Amino acid sequence: MQKILGWRPDTCGCRIRFQYDTDSKTVAADQRKPEAVLELVPCEHHAGLPMRDAYVAVWEENDRKNRACTLASESTGTPLADIEWSIDKDRVVVIKSPPGAGPDLGIALAARLGARVEG
Ligand SMILES: [Zn+2]
Repeated sequence: MQKILGWRPDTCGCRIRFQYDTDSKTVAADQRKPEAVLELVPCEHHAGLPMRDAYVAVWEENDRKNRACTLASESTGTPLADIEWSIDKDRVVVIKSPPGAGPDLGIALAARLGARVEG
């Protein structure tokens, strides 16, 4: 059976609707395929792109943010929910330095995810 699923990423203001098959178990956010996007109402950052390209960009940013937060959490023992982050005008993920973070965190974030630490 086909169902519609909405997604509002926390990394930008896009609104996305997917169609998915309820018989399939692959509806997790990290497995949503661009082919399944029915509608994308773009935010200011993703306006002007073809829908599929906008979706890929939104997904990539959201994934990069999630991975940066997880890395910051795991390397400092800070609960994931307490990691503060933002995205700058160049769409770079910025992690607010958690307590106990050493210089290694900034190096790892930059090398693996192009992200940076501030504060
Ligand atoms: Zn967007």
